[in-house]
Amino acid sequence: TNLVEVNHLKKTYGKKGNLYTALENISFTIEQGEFIGIMGPSGAGKTTLLNILSTIDKPTSGDIKIGGADVTTMKDAALSTFRRHELGFIFQDFNLMDSLTVKENILLPLALDKQPVSDMEGRVLYVTKILGIDQLLKKYPNEISIGQKQRVSAARAMITKPQLIVADEPTGSLDSKSATELLQYLTEINTKEQATILMVTHDAFSASYCNRILFIKDGVLFSEIRRTGTRKEF
Ligand code: ADP
Ligand code: ADP
Repeated sequence: TNLVEVNHLKKTYGKKGNLYTALENISFTIEQGEFIGIMGPSGAGKTTLLNILSTIDKPTSGDIKIGGADVTTMKDAALSTFRRHELGFIFQDFNLMDSLTVKENILLPLALDKQPVSDMEGRVLYVTKILGIDQLLKKYPNEISIGQKQRVSAARAMITKPQLIVADEPTGSLDSKSATELLQYLTEINTKEQATILMVTHDAFSASYCNRILFIKDGVLFSEIRRTGTRKEF
């Protein structure tokens, strides 16, 4: 079943007379459980597309449904809740709060909820065990390695069991060993929790972990490649 449906998305910047079309007639679907990559040259429109999929920007026309909900017409208050519960974000630069512990950072998406976070102890342990950071819960971000930081942000991204995890260049700040580890952990989240992951990357090595890669060029969907079978490691 389709988790995400993107229909005839268009995004222009600027005003009449000086319009710049950043995205034109973009349509694709993402199935529940896919680990999908988005690649394309600089200026292709990847960030624009990611921002619209992340519901922090609106398209000029076209629509996006995530789990059946049309996020392009949703009101801001509903969107804010939707974003915190149904989407998880992993950024290139982690976006961790230095003044909060690892555990507090992981629970941040739930901070605005009425439900006490003490109900989440089991979930915190489960996700941090998957990511190999369960011994770090009381530490602060400046006390852990860069690779561990990104695993903390992956834990934060999955804590609510979101419908979609959006990762923007998640290996962009990592050394090659930490990058490989993170990609293996993302693969595990993808298979163990059937998490649907959308990852923008410049890096072919990172993209090799995806089941499918969409290529955008000059604001249009240019091509896609699918990996059939399992990813083989030597
Ligand atoms: P990518 O992430 O693939 O490098 P972007 O989505 O950042 O591409 O940008 C696509 C195009 O849209 C680029 O030509 C960029 O200059 C332009 N663009 C992006 N954001 C804005 C903006 N806020 N105003 C005007 N033009 C923009
Ligand atoms: P609101 O102000 O509408 O309540 P927030 O700024 O608190 O929304 O963000 C809600 C969620 O969106 C958070 O989980 C946060 O991680 C995510 N988020 C915030 N900024 C960005 C961004 N630039 N790109 C993608 N996701 C973001």
